[in-house]
Amino acid sequence: MTEPQYAVLECPECGEQYIISSPTDSPSETATLFSDGYFIEDGNIHWRTPLVIGCVTCELGFMPVKGKQIAFGTLDELLEKFPNIKKAMAPTAGTLVLDLRARLHMELDEEVAIRRELWYASQHTSKGCELLERNKKFEAFYQQNLLRLIECVQLPVLKAELNRQAGMFDQCLNCLENETDSMATLIAQQAKVENTGVFKVSNAI
Ligand SMILES: [Zn+2]
Repeated sequence: MTEPQYAVLECPECGEQYIISSPTDSPSETATLFSDGYFIEDGNIHWRTPLVIGCVTCELGFMPVKGKQIAFGTLDELLEKFPNIKKAMAPTAGTLVLDLRARLHMELDEEVAIRRELWYASQHTSKGCELLERNKKFEAFYQQNLLRLIECVQLPVLKAELNRQAGMFDQCLNCLENETDSMATLIAQQAKVENTGVFKVSNAI
């Protein structure tokens, strides 16, 4: 196995620096994967690179590809050069809602990234789950977000999962007609029993 390559990115708005553990949003072999594509890395050596990095300084989010890469190397090398570097994390659910409301003109890839992170934050973070459970306005925004994602997302398995979580089981199964991988099979099984909940797929498949 090659040594993992980490990178330091600068926020395009304010220059705040963040370290990412992978240039892609793919899980490592030991990650725990969920039916919606979200994953949790095992330990502290790796962490998920969010589709949108939450900037704590300017409070906006930016996509990793839009950040300026200022350094590249192993974790040890970068921590030595940037001892106070912050790990790149997704914005909170509340911040993502504000972000979506504030941006009037978004490119589609940016909109999808923010909306997917809002979906993930609502299912996989305690603050997001709490908002979804207790706040009716947030719940309505969340449902609207799911429907908009279904419109925008092209990847068949992801589109199927969005449909399943929105309770549209026939549409879910239609998206999976030509899909044969194990994730597609698991999502189809859950759609057939009309389960809308996100589920753990065990370690990366
Ligand atoms: Zn910033």
